[in-house]
Amino acid sequence: MENELIQILPAGSNRSERQLQPLAPAHEILFNDAATKQPFFKGKTFYIETFGCQMNVHDSEKVAGTLLAKGYRPVENYEDADLVLYNTCSIREKAAQKVFSRLGAFKKGARNRQRIIGVLGCVAQQEGERFFDRAPQVQLVCGSASYSRISELIDRLEAGEKRVTGLSLDTDECFETEITRRDNPFRAYITIIEGCDKACTYCVVPMTRGPERSRPSDKVLAEARRLVDAGYTEIQLLGQTVNSYRDPSLARLAFPELLLRIAEIPGLKRLRFTTSHPHDFTSEIVRAIENSPVLCNHIHLPLQCGSNRMLARMRRTYTREEYLEKISCIRSAKRAMSISTDIIVGFCGETEEDFEQTLSLIDAVGYDQVFSFKYSPRPNTDAGRMEDSVPEEEKGRRLITLQERQRQIQLSRNQELIGQEFEVLVEGFQSKLGQAIGRTTSNRIINFAGEAGWIGQYMNVRVTAAGPNSLVGVRAESG
Ligand code: SF4
Repeated sequence: MENELIQILPAGSNRSERQLQPLAPAHEILFNDAATKQPFFKGKTFYIETFGCQMNVHDSEKVAGTLLAKGYRPVENYEDADLVLYNTCSIREKAAQKVFSRLGAFKKGARNRQRIIGVLGCVAQQEGERFFDRAPQVQLVCGSASYSRISELIDRLEAGEKRVTGLSLDTDECFETEITRRDNPFRAYITIIEGCDKACTYCVVPMTRGPERSRPSDKVLAEARRLVDAGYTEIQLLGQTVNSYRDPSLARLAFPELLLRIAEIPGLKRLRFTTSHPHDFTSEIVRAIENSPVLCNHIHLPLQCGSNRMLARMRRTYTREEYLEKISCIRSAKRAMSISTDIIVGFCGETEEDFEQTLSLIDAVGYDQVFSFKYSPRPNTDAGRMEDSVPEEEKGRRLITLQERQRQIQLSRNQELIGQEFEVLVEGFQSKLGQAIGRTTSNRIINFAGEAGWIGQYMNVRVTAAGPNSLVGVRAESG
């Protein structure tokens, strides 16, 4: 393993806002600085808090690695940090507001400490230099398309510049780092494609993350091999539209071929990928999953809305019928697959009839999990200029209706699993309950009596009871 830093920590949680944990004691850290020859810590400290999606979580891991290579040391509390970074999300208004409330803390106190405060990610890109007016305590504003410049930007601040920005979207590069400071000891993220060339009318991503650009397959494969050599047993490939991957190298591997090549790496137990765009979802992806048990039998395929009228307004580039064809293809696979989705309710102009079509589609698919949200207009989007016509109370009612319908679907799907046996990766342990938390390849959680020492192990568990969101089981004798 080269240039890889691994922190041995309890498995990551499902929190959407994460803060990188402080580094474990030295004996728990595996670090090879053969290439960088950097001193480990120069005495300066950093704190990163991350909002939003897995892409942001992994970006923060890479930014943290960059800072480690510069000699910075992570701390748990922003008050102890010389460099405070907020990696922001603007997918919904609430998420965007959170960063301003965090920054408020620096208005009041701790002004006597010399520290650099920076904002990264989508809100940084969206607000740009306006950020300095809204939050004068901020000195660094950097969007994700400029992370490869983050080291240089910090150098400039350290050298005395007052304010620096990295806001260019004109790039064909992906953010490559020599060190990534990963936050989970078993599952590692690998970004294979950045940006997005789709143009969904409600979405800020094409404006905040820039154009689509894929990493060469040889670099992705080399990173995957290094991770497996380092002991990771599960890899999750990331991209805003992961299945739109287009290999820029001469190998020209198609996305399903890349999946199969990674899955062949000896020692890798599980390979996941997220998020797939329905337009680019092909039967070859399903065939790849059928042919490799390493490929997890779970597909996240965002629907957003079940009405063709709304899908066209959202510019999703598929119809309800086309989406359902992809679902039939997944359902016809030799391995049973679980399917999850994202849904927005109350989009501009959504009528009761449109909403009913979403309900009928979730009935037809029988999703294993649905992430549902009320629409909120985002600045600089096409939908932001449309009339946000559905009243807030009505959006709330539709959300509750949809969630209740889906709860019943999940409960009945999970109850069908009682008595069956599944292999799980133990990802956590609840000491109060004495329960291990395992995840199946189909992305279901099973809680079962266990020990903290099982974290990181694979074992078979028989399902004994089912709720809408998780299962209860016992360790099987075979496992
Ligand atoms: S596919 Fe649509 S929703 Fe997804 S990131 Fe691209 S523009 Fe946004």
